[in-house]
Amino acid sequence: MTTTTGDRETLGFQTEVRQLLKLMIHSLYSNKEIFLRELISNASDAADKLRFEALSAPDLLADDPELGIRVEYDPDAVTVAVIDNGIGMSRVELIENIGTIARSGTAEFLGALTGDQQKDASLIGQFGVGFYSAFIVADKVVVETRRAGEAPDAGVRWSSDGQGEYTVEGVERSERGTRVTLHLKPGEKEFAEGPRLDALIRKYSDHIGFPVTLVGGDGGGEAEPKVVNSATALWTRSRSELSDDEYREFYKHISHDFADPLCWSHNRVEGKREYTSLLYIPKTAPFDLWNREAPRGLKLYVQRVFIMDDAEQFLPLYLRFVKGVVDSSDLPLNVSRELLQQNKDLSAMRGALTKRVLDMLDRLAKNEAADFAAFWKEFGQVLKEGLVEDPANRDKLAKLLRFETTRTDGDGELRSLDDYLAGADDSQDKVYYLLAENRATAAASPHLEKLAEKEIEVLLLTDRIDPWLVDALAEYQGKQLADAAREGLSLPDGDGEITQAATNEAHKPLLKKIKQVLKDRVEAVNVSRRLVDSPACVVSGQDELSPQLKRMLEAGGQAMPESRPVLEINVEHRLVSRLAGETDDARFGALSEILLDHALLAEGSQLADPAAYVRRMNRLLLELASPAEPG
Ligand code: ADP
Repeated sequence: MTTTTGDRETLGFQTEVRQLLKLMIHSLYSNKEIFLRELISNASDAADKLRFEALSAPDLLADDPELGIRVEYDPDAVTVAVIDNGIGMSRVELIENIGTIARSGTAEFLGALTGDQQKDASLIGQFGVGFYSAFIVADKVVVETRRAGEAPDAGVRWSSDGQGEYTVEGVERSERGTRVTLHLKPGEKEFAEGPRLDALIRKYSDHIGFPVTLVGGDGGGEAEPKVVNSATALWTRSRSELSDDEYREFYKHISHDFADPLCWSHNRVEGKREYTSLLYIPKTAPFDLWNREAPRGLKLYVQRVFIMDDAEQFLPLYLRFVKGVVDSSDLPLNVSRELLQQNKDLSAMRGALTKRVLDMLDRLAKNEAADFAAFWKEFGQVLKEGLVEDPANRDKLAKLLRFETTRTDGDGELRSLDDYLAGADDSQDKVYYLLAENRATAAASPHLEKLAEKEIEVLLLTDRIDPWLVDALAEYQGKQLADAAREGLSLPDGDGEITQAATNEAHKPLLKKIKQVLKDRVEAVNVSRRLVDSPACVVSGQDELSPQLKRMLEAGGQAMPESRPVLEINVEHRLVSRLAGETDDARFGALSEILLDHALLAEGSQLADPAAYVRRMNRLLLELASPAEPG
């Protein structure tokens, strides 16, 4: 805040706004015409909001009941203005809305921009450029506004050249609502010309639910005012009369996303409950996808009247990336968030809308594999939450899952569970998976050796949510999910019927001796059936938490109960034969410890006493270098 003269004040933009303005003007220049869409979109929102407030206070509309938007241009003055008779803003609202950005995480978001014009353009677009896009084409923007219901002397004028400061002052304003006037930059005269504006409004704003009238201003009075758009809310029109482009533009209007949507689903439900929904899947995830507080949800209308943004009750949390509109004929016009929470009809609607989204994704997966792959990359981790959160839709969700497996190459195509089953032998009655910290650890894991030899595919699971996912999923098409790193693993050739005790039988003395050395470090020592090249590995007991989950919970500050792994040894391995033949107790002990240390490291665990391990290894290396000294 710098100067105040009477009620005129000059204020500084919030740092984030300043940054955004600079970046936006630079990176969106090649799409500069979108400023008009953004301003008309704001005007339409303002009209929507007034219509909503007027439900309980009809006087607000009294002197000017026809809500509409005007685009006024003046080729001589080189100005274009977007005018609405909507809700308007008070002085405080004006400063809050158009001087600051209240979204949390904005600073980090802006910090993440690269300076690469193309990349940043899509990022900024996805952030939602809104009002500030005016500065792409204007070197001065003036906003005059008056909140509906206030007296004419409650008008406010906001003015800025977009360089860092703006002024606000009180003005008389006879009409309610907002006028945004753009003084166009020298090179941008085209936006003060009738035919150009006419074409832009048709292209970008046809679907706006209010009439948009184009008017030649003082200097350009050559053209009669005329309504340019079709002025019917898009979702009320039938699918057959809507073009893909119209659907895309409407998406940009409601989502403030700059990019096209990936796909959409438009439906009217009639009968006991009547409503229309238009649901979109965005192409890219918003920067605040992982912020659980971030606004989410659909735009709610009741009988065409806008009720609220971000109505989150219509979809589960794991579908928080879906954008769209739901227009109900049955909900009361005075419905509030609280009432929505209690409404019984709503859970049925929520169920139906959830199904719609899942069916839309299923179609996408079937018909547009590349688009679905793009979807999965952006939102797959969020969708996985659904298996835990929404058991009722488990089967639909399971079909949509995609995995890295031992048959993917790390950056190529992912595999579905159906792909997995199609690629498996009939004799295989399990879906094998391995949890790991990352793909490299997973791919190199000793647990996979026998499975690889038998050419059995294994899902490689490295997402944070995966331990919960496999628990919730449990089986697919009647085939149980089986952890490749758990005790009692059974392989398809029926050796699962052979008990661990039977497998251990021939090696009992060795197992016992190793267990005596490792005592408290392991739960048990068994003969392994899953190893080929490695001498040993660790596995978790049937009812133990996986080490990945344990590490994650520990990192989150949870105390974990004491638990020990099971050590499995490969009795075919030379190192193990060597161990079995070792007569020196000290060396037997050291070798056993190293066997376990290596098994733990390969699995991704930290050693409890790394220094002891290094000492043991060094001693062993020295023995290699010089003739062995006993002890
Ligand atoms: P967004 O529209 O994404 O919220 P904007 O930067 O376009 O972001 O606008 C910020 C806020 O300013 C809007 O949310 C709205 O509250 C207010 N605003 C913008 N234009 C108008 C308008 N024509 N009438 C009333 N309020 C407006």
